[in-house]
Amino acid sequence: MEIETGVSLARLTTIGTGGSAAAFARPESVADLEEAIGWATERGLGVRTVGLGSNVLVADEGVEALVVRLAGDLAAVEVDGELLRAGGGATNAVCLHRARDAGLGGLEFACAIPGTAGGGVRMNAGAYGSDWSAILVRALVVSADGSGWLTPAELGLEYRHSLLRPDQVVAKVEYRLSPRPVDEIKADVAELIARRKATQPTNKRTFGSVFKNPPGGLGAGRMLELCGLKGHAIGGAVVSPRHANFIENAGGATSEDCLALMREARRRARDEFGVDLEHEVVFFGSLALEI
Ligand SMILES: Cc1cc2nc3c(=O)[nH]c(=O)nc-3n(C[C@H](O)[C@H](O)[C@H](O)COP(=O)(O)OP(=O)(O)OC[C@H]3O[C@@H](n4cnc5c(N)ncnc54)[C@H](O)[C@@H]3O)c2cc1C
Repeated sequence: MEIETGVSLARLTTIGTGGSAAAFARPESVADLEEAIGWATERGLGVRTVGLGSNVLVADEGVEALVVRLAGDLAAVEVDGELLRAGGGATNAVCLHRARDAGLGGLEFACAIPGTAGGGVRMNAGAYGSDWSAILVRALVVSADGSGWLTPAELGLEYRHSLLRPDQVVAKVEYRLSPRPVDEIKADVAELIARRKATQPTNKRTFGSVFKNPPGGLGAGRMLELCGLKGHAIGGAVVSPRHANFIENAGGATSEDCLALMREARRRARDEFGVDLEHEVVFFGSLALEI
């Protein structure tokens, strides 16, 4: 398997910022993945996985690690009765499509989450009252320590959180779905996507939610809107005028621009609401948010 150098991660993330990976590989099987992890371990390099890069901010100076993006068998999808088996690199869109064609419901909530199966597990991604813990039966997790299938309880899935370490790779997943008429699935998906378009900047370059919703009912988006942040810009990064918990790359943004906006947002939320917002977006490389 080819190990590349100098691969820009900006083009592998939805925000489109950040530097290169020290090394980069596209494993197509568990054997490939184990080989890549072995290669990195021998050189003292860490391992990071990028899915669709839809919740990642990469340091402008790059990432001193082997970054893997799963392909081939590790991005394939098959339906077996009420089980959907997917590679960790399979996109949610393809999984949803295959489930719908097989008359299986349960994944509709993920229709507007532009990620992969592995990214969904790592983040316990969710929307509209459901999340990965509701559909996941087990995930095959591979790292330098070995590999094994883990259940949602073993993965510790909670609100936008799992116990997975950054170097652990979700190579495969199994979802349990349930029979549902195709027309109902289509109608639900159309309605959820329309709701999304009405409230979020779906046609802009963003990395999804910047901060997790804090406890207490007032969401991070509304809180930041009340702090007057909508439209606030630093460099090429702008707090979305449509939803204040999104940062848009308005052209030429750097990751440092995004980080500076995040610091300003945290400062205002602390000053005005006494709340320490916790970032949902995952940092790759040496990025830090302290103010
Ligand atoms: C427009 C937009 C809307 C969004 N809406 C939602 C939403 O409604 N709900 C929600 O929860 N999220 C949302 N997100 C955020 C994002 O889509 C989810 O967190 C998604 O699950 C990330 O998947 P990914 O494959 O893109 O992961 P990435 O963004 O590539 O990575 C995110 C994290 O997962 C890890 N990861 C990725 N793949 C693997 C793997 N195979 N094994 C182990 N770790 C892995 C990465 O290392 C990183 O730590 C949105 C993002 C955008 C841009």
